[in-house]
Amino acid sequence: MCPETEELKKEIESLVKKQDAIILAHNYQRPSVQDIAHHVGDSLGLSRIAARAESEVIVFCGVRFMAETASILSPDKTVLLPAPEAGCPLADMATAGQIRAWRARHPDAMVVSYVNTTAAVKAESDICCTSANACLVVDSIGDNREILFVPDRNLGHYVGEELDRELTLWDGWCPTHLSFSPMDVAVCRREHPKATLMVHPECNPRVLQMADKVAGTSGMVRYADGCSSNEFIVGTENGMIHRLEKEYREKKFYAGTEHFICPPMKLTTLSRIRATLRDMKPEIQISKETEHKASEPLKAMCSTGT
Ligand code: SF4
Repeated sequence: MCPETEELKKEIESLVKKQDAIILAHNYQRPSVQDIAHHVGDSLGLSRIAARAESEVIVFCGVRFMAETASILSPDKTVLLPAPEAGCPLADMATAGQIRAWRARHPDAMVVSYVNTTAAVKAESDICCTSANACLVVDSIGDNREILFVPDRNLGHYVGEELDRELTLWDGWCPTHLSFSPMDVAVCRREHPKATLMVHPECNPRVLQMADKVAGTSGMVRYADGCSSNEFIVGTENGMIHRLEKEYREKKFYAGTEHFICPPMKLTTLSRIRATLRDMKPEIQISKETEHKASEPLKAMCSTGT
């Protein structure tokens, strides 16, 4: 490690103590950011850790909707987002106004929002879900209700297929996951014939059909642990490989493709974390009304026992 990085890490450590902060990093963050974080995980898991933490200051290394979710679940804490311009293109494909307009045309329908939505969209939803619990959440809704699944059409399509249920799908997608093509799968299968292919449900349905396992990021961590295979092709953002390699040093993990990168996730750097802790900004600000309304679908999700 270069002396500058070592110095930066020491400064971050001392600022963490001074501000009584905790650093949370999503699985897709740069390895250097994952390595200084107190916890690395998926967006909802990290938000739950934030809510339980004794620290009053949360530095959320991820994209905006994740920090918003942490803030909604920890309304009395200060949630800081080192890269405030880090939006999620998928989350930005649905707006609160669009959901309200759709609801007006379908007054009896339920709106199920993937956690990859803005606080404003959550505030217009009935229940949230993650990639891990989406099937359980949808299954908890009576068969006779029309369901709008927002915003990821690929995850919604997967849930519909798994439950053999018709869902109305919002036309949103994750550009990063969609870039992993059936051709990429064919190439990495050829290069690593013994490897097990794990794929995120935000990928193209044709890619999902080719997978050995469909799972969100936490599901991939658990699956790699329990699986007898020693080699895995990782069908999600490449930051995940660092997390898996650290957890399971004896196993091998290969990128589905070299271009499996989410650019907004890479905007957080050690120097930006240092600046955030030093200046105690940028802070996530959500109006009390939106915060309250957005907490309801998150609570509804938790009440399904997931
Ligand atoms: Fe959004 Fe996709 Fe990036 Fe996740 S990987 S933050 S869904 S753009």
